[in-house]
Parts: sequence; C-alpha cells; structure tokens
Amino acid sequence: MKVFLSGGSGFIAAHVLDILLEHGHTVITSVRSQEKANKIKEAHPNTPASQLEFRIVKDIAQEGAFDEAIKIDGLEAVIHTASPFHFNVTDVKKDLLDPAIIGTTGILKAIKKNAPSVKRVVITSSFASIVNPSKGNSWTEHTYSEEDWNPITEEEAVLNPSNGYRASKTFAEKAAWEFVEKEKPNFTLSTMCPPLVIGPIVHYLNSLDSLNTSNQRTANLMTGKNKSEIPDTGTYIWIDVRDLALAHVKAIELPEAANKRFFITAGYFSNKEIAEIIRKNFPALEKELPAKDVKGGDYPKEGLYKE
Ligand code: NDP
Repeated sequence: MKVFLSGGSGFIAAHVLDILLEHGHTVITSVRSQEKANKIKEAHPNTPASQLEFRIVKDIAQEGAFDEAIKIDGLEAVIHTASPFHFNVTDVKKDLLDPAIIGTTGILKAIKKNAPSVKRVVITSSFASIVNPSKGNSWTEHTYSEEDWNPITEEEAVLNPSNGYRASKTFAEKAAWEFVEKEKPNFTLSTMCPPLVIGPIVHYLNSLDSLNTSNQRTANLMTGKNKSEIPDTGTYIWIDVRDLALAHVKAIELPEAANKRFFITAGYFSNKEIAEIIRKNFPALEKELPAKDVKGGDYPKEGLYKE
C-alpha cells in the first residue's frame, strides 16, 4: 500500500514508519525541514528511496498546509500523527488548538480535494479526548470506553496548557468525525485514543532536552531529577509505543477497523512503579533514583477509574 504519514520525525510516528516499512508498504512522510528528512533517511540506510519519500510541511496550523504534499499518485492510506504534545506554550490557541484542529481538518480537506484514491485514514487522537477530568482519577464506579468524550468547553480550553492540550485532542477528533459525517468522503476514518505512551526512542534527538513529553518522566527519574519527591502520576494508564504503532498500521490494513474509535491501553501504572522497574533492571542508576521511601508517585488512596 502507498501510505502518507504526517509528522514522521515524532516519537510515535518513527515506530509507525518502521512497522509500515517492515510490512512492505511504501511511505511518504511529512516533516518540517529537510534536516529532519535527512535524519530519517540516515536511520534507514537499506530502504530504497522509492519506498521512503519525504514532503516538507512546515506548519500544519496553516490552512491548506497539506494541499500540495498530499498530491501522490495511487495514494491509498493516510496516518495523521502530527500534533503538538508539550506544555511549553505562551498562547494555547496558537500553540496547541490551531495546529491540532486546523492540522486535522486541513489534512482531511486536502485528501478529499487532491488525493481521491485514498480509502483509509487513521488519526492519532488521545485518551485526552475520552477522559472526564471533572470526575478526577478516582471515579471508581466508571470504566472508560470509546463511548466517552471529554466534555471540555472552549472557555475551559484556554485556561491553562494542560486543558489546552486535552481540548486540542478532543476538538480535533470531533472535527474529524464531523468532517466524515458531513462531507461523506471516499475514505473511512479510524481514530486511536492512547493514554500515556512510553517505550524505546527510535527517532533522532538533538539532545536529551528534546525528548518528547511522555518519555520525560522516565528520563527525569533516571537522571536524578526526582530524588527528593516523585511527581504525581497524573494519568494512571499507559500503552507501549510499539503496540500503539502496530495498531495504527493494522487500522489501515484490516477492513474491520474502518469507522471505529480505538481506546488502546496496557493497563495501570504509577511513577513509583517506573522508579522500581529502573532500580531492578539498571542497578548502575541507583544513585540517580529516588530512595525507596521517598514520598509521591503512588496510586491515589481513594482508588482509580475501573479497568
Ligand atoms: P512528538 O512531539 O514526538 O511528535 C509530534 C509530531 O508532530 C512531531 O513530528 C512534530 O514535528 C509534529 N508537529 C507538532 N506541531 C507541528 C506543527 N505546527 N507543524 C508541523 N508539525 C508539527 O510526540 P508524540 O509522538 O508523542 O505524539 C504524536 C501524536 O500522538 C500526537 O498527535 C499526540 O497528541 C498523540 N498522543 C501522544 C501521546 C503520548 O503519550 N506520547 C498520548 C496520546 C496521544 P517536530 O518534530 O518537527 O516538532
């Protein structure tokens, strides 16, 4: 299959790219600069240039950003992962909401207009678009599922970066489903709603400072940043990036994945457990880790939403 992958320089996208290539697909991936394209090319020295191509899309928040990039003969599927996931923002609308929402609606419009051969679209949404933060983590009678939607409003979205990120994913995913309903395009949609994604880093990093957001908690524990207190876990469910990447690829390969939302998780975790896993498996890092009796990072005493 010929597949367009947006945001190929990202943590999750790099795993999606590897699995697409392993499964024999041809990949055209968008990145923000030629330097980023070169790094991906260097990481795949044995992949023929005809199986891995690049398009430069500098800013997905610009209307029409994907219009030219998506013009690819015989393109069959699109996996849209690009979206900002960080809390280092000064303007929630400009830095988080616009790239997420305009990026998502923009790629869908571009496919409809300029890539009519596309049959399958997969979008990386998030548990952020499912969770109801007003219920807290201790909504012990509730089991989250694909039926749930984060009820966040536009007013709440701009209150702080954390709300901004959750709203960016909720509004973008809603906009995608609305697009499909209203525009009735030639393609089917599947959305992936992972909670915290952790696992091996296979994409190029300039330095540890440019590590993606979801892996930072593990890096912080390993580098002595949490020795006196383990931070609150926040979201208590996770998924291995390799499983999530495989799910993205399966969603373009399997007809039964069409028009479905996938809440995909491996179960509960806590920051304290991450610290103990590192202690057990990497004894050389003991001096960087919080001592066993350091406070913080455990499960809430009141319990958690149900599994
Ligand atoms: P990364 O930060 O590693 O990847 C984000 C990607 O989006 C990068 O390729 C980045 O490009 C690109 N991007 C961001 N903003 C823009 C923009 N304005 N214009 C063009 N490209 C842009 O994070 P992840 O791999 O973790 O995230 C990938 C997707 O998964 C996102 O949609 C995220 O919301 C979602 N997700 C992630 C979770 C996690 O725990 N990691 C959990 C749930 C969902 P560049 O590298 O050039 O900055």
